Amino acid sequence: MKREVEVLVIGGGVVGVCAAYFLGKQGRQVVLVEKGELCAGSSYGNAGLVVPSHSVPLAAPGVAFKALKWMLDPESPFYVAPRWDAALWRWLWNFWRTGNENHVRRALPLLRDLHLASKGLFAELTRLKGMACAYEERGALYAFRTRAGLEAGIAEGERLGGAGLPPQVLDRAGVEALEGMEARVEGGVYYPQDAHLVPDRFVRGMGQHLRGAEVLTQTEVLELRREGGRIVLVRTTRGDFAPREVVLAAGSWSPLLARQAGLSLPIQAAKGYSITLKKPLPCPAVPLLLGEAKVGVTPMGEWLRFAGTLELAGLDLRINQRRVEAILRAVPSYLPQIEPAKLELVEIWRGLRPATPDGLPFLGRAPGCGNLTVAAGHATIGLSLGPITGKLVAQVVCGSPEFDLSLLRVDRF
Ligand SMILES: Cc1cc2nc3c(=O)[nH]c(=O)nc-3n(C[C@H](O)[C@H](O)[C@H](O)COP(=O)(O)OP(=O)(O)OC[C@H]3O[C@@H](n4cnc5c(N)ncnc54)[C@H](O)[C@@H]3O)c2cc1C
Repeated sequence: MKREVEVLVIGGGVVGVCAAYFLGKQGRQVVLVEKGELCAGSSYGNAGLVVPSHSVPLAAPGVAFKALKWMLDPESPFYVAPRWDAALWRWLWNFWRTGNENHVRRALPLLRDLHLASKGLFAELTRLKGMACAYEERGALYAFRTRAGLEAGIAEGERLGGAGLPPQVLDRAGVEALEGMEARVEGGVYYPQDAHLVPDRFVRGMGQHLRGAEVLTQTEVLELRREGGRIVLVRTTRGDFAPREVVLAAGSWSPLLARQAGLSLPIQAAKGYSITLKKPLPCPAVPLLLGEAKVGVTPMGEWLRFAGTLELAGLDLRINQRRVEAILRAVPSYLPQIEPAKLELVEIWRGLRPATPDGLPFLGRAPGCGNLTVAAGHATIGLSLGPITGKLVAQVVCGSPEFDLSLLRVDRF
């Protein structure tokens, strides 16, 4: 027997939960299915940063070249596990191809507007009843140990400043004053527009506010059946559904399901790690991004979290201890008063960022499949864009979106 539903949302990460929230606000009857528990995927242990400062897409000039240099070093911030996989090599080719000036010029204003709109929604949503996710608007500091790093950070700051996100450049004393602790750095670039929060508490909190939505956890989608240009059946481990609309928000797992609907989504899982410790004293006052090491340091509630590395290794959740240790070593080389070995460990975590080759998510109707909306591929900025993505999904399903989403088209590759 098939159960009829108005909208079936697949995936209980930040994107799926926010989509269910905004669809509910539009009066839609939603069933959200999640193969684990809510927030079981990449949305759980990330760095918790809301980042207008990340409005330059990951695929930018020079990044592919730097990545190539790092690729062979298993402790570097970017790593590709060497393997023969045509989809991976196609992805890398598109990553290299799209990392150009023209792409950045087109993508930056859209990403800026999406991040700022999302931040506005965070300010609203984190005030909902019972939302204890330690949301704070304190900005974020990009700190650099080397002159070359700082100069590159300043150049990026000028670009973002030109787009209306002006940062402040700080010398070492300025960094120490902002963070309230010693810093072994050449200087930093501070973006006052950024914010941070405890990500899993936000997603689970939102899960408590889903109006008119039913959440089915431990419910895995096994099959999307497409007939005559529509999804007619969704088979899950807990029964079959005949949805009028389907929203695919399954993060790094989205391509597996999209393929069944005849859709190719070039998303690679980009593994990252986080290490959460009990908050030390002294503790950085403002989240940092350690420029050369590419490690995030976020004070969140009663914790301090380090997060980093980007490893294209497929849907592989194994923890590579060398990478965890590289993150732990990086932090005291910038912040000598933090000694990770002396702090109480809360959790070591890894997650799979859903990465597209051009650093932009897929958001919109699937071509040739009238009732399927895709919202996946947010890579390093999915928490930050979660609320606005959810709102836009509801607008796509119910009418027309408030932003021009042509750069995020599902069939752009
Ligand atoms: C180390 C690290 C640090 C990061 N830091 C930040 C940051 O500071 N700021 C930021 O904005 N972003 C950050 N990110 C990225 C961010 O975490 C992701 O972009 C975001 O969580 C993606 O959300 P999602 O909902 O698309 O995917 P997910 O959270 O992965 O959710 C997808 C869900 O779909 C479910 N699912 C999959 N297949 C099925 C199926 N067949 N049936 C049912 N359910 C299914 C999964 O179980 C999962 O819960 C970071 C990521 C990492 C790894």
